[in-house]
Amino acid sequence: MSYRYVCRCCGMKIVEFDQSAVNEVQLGLDSLTPEERQHIISKEQDGDTVIRIVCDYCREAFNQHPELSLIGSPLQ
Ligand SMILES: [Zn+2]
Repeated sequence: MSYRYVCRCCGMKIVEFDQSAVNEVQLGLDSLTPEERQHIISKEQDGDTVIRIVCDYCREAFNQHPELSLIGSPLQ
């Protein structure tokens, strides 16, 4: 089982951590509000935890084309 970071815009896998190697505190997930957690974090049926963020490529695209942010604003 792992924590998997994927881009919520293009779906690209950004990075993956084994759950035995890191915990939510190390990943900073404990500082999210319950609402943010619900929005960002989801559990896969196989037990993986998926964290949806915005990859560098999409973040750059947002910066250059702010109108794209209508899709959803990048996390700070
Ligand atoms: Zn992306």
